Amino acid sequence: MSSYTDLFSLKGRNAVVTGGSRGIGLAIADGLFDAGARVLTLSRSVPPNNTGSGVSCKMCDVLDIGSFDLVVKDFLAGESLDILINAAGITHPSGSLDDFDKTIATNLRAPFLTSSVAASLMNKDRGGSIVNITSLAAWRGFPNNPAYVASKGGLSQLTRALAYDLGAKGIRVNNLVPGYILTDMTAKSWSDPFIRSERERQTMLGRWGNPRDLVGAAIFLSSGASSYITGQDIVVDGGWLAKGLA
Ligand code: NDP
Repeated sequence: MSSYTDLFSLKGRNAVVTGGSRGIGLAIADGLFDAGARVLTLSRSVPPNNTGSGVSCKMCDVLDIGSFDLVVKDFLAGESLDILINAAGITHPSGSLDDFDKTIATNLRAPFLTSSVAASLMNKDRGGSIVNITSLAAWRGFPNNPAYVASKGGLSQLTRALAYDLGAKGIRVNNLVPGYILTDMTAKSWSDPFIRSERERQTMLGRWGNPRDLVGAAIFLSSGASSYITGQDIVVDGGWLAKGLA
């Protein structure tokens, strides 16, 4: 293996991906595994057809931090953790307080707690990388979903706060910011021809993303290739944010 390839290698690294049962989390988990990591994904359900993949999948609700702590320690079996990807997320467009509380609990409170547990399991000599999956909603206001916009905006700033606090332990914390990616979460917008083409038109690349489009940036942020990068955003949106006129 060349030293250039070594930079991106995750060989010997232990990684946990929350929200890895489908969509973006699943693609990232497979990508980290392909790059050499031992990978555990956590979600409330386990995909039925996960046999054959080298990725381990466990049922775990990120709202239950005690269970997260136990499952991750069991996976590590005394080794240290190197990578945490906080991909678990929900969206319930509404203005209700109930949805607001649930969304903040899953998209913001849970990553704060999982990151804290993860940091305690990382080793200063090996360093560590935490990647939070935020959203264009962390950068822009979107209608009829105040909970989601607030949760992703908060998560984006949580990243910078944790990057500061954990830097002395050699732990880097960054945001991976997807644009419009076709998953279960966005299937409803995708199936509406008007909304679908509106989203497409706003990207410079003229297409929606698919979960695989995020894998390169996730490996980069998880690996030694980004060893001096922390508290930053990598936007993977086909040019959506940068575009002026649609
Ligand atoms: P999906 O709805 O396809 O997947 C969401 C994942 O989160 C599933 O694996 C789900 O598993 C898991 N999850 C949800 N709640 C919990 C919980 N309480 N505990 C454990 N796991 C949970 O969405 P995407 O793949 O599209 O989204 C992944 C992340 O990317 C989210 O944070 C989302 O906000 C973000 N994002 C997505 C964009 C897109 O265009 N798709 C754009 C910008 C950001 P299960 O239901 O089995 O628990």
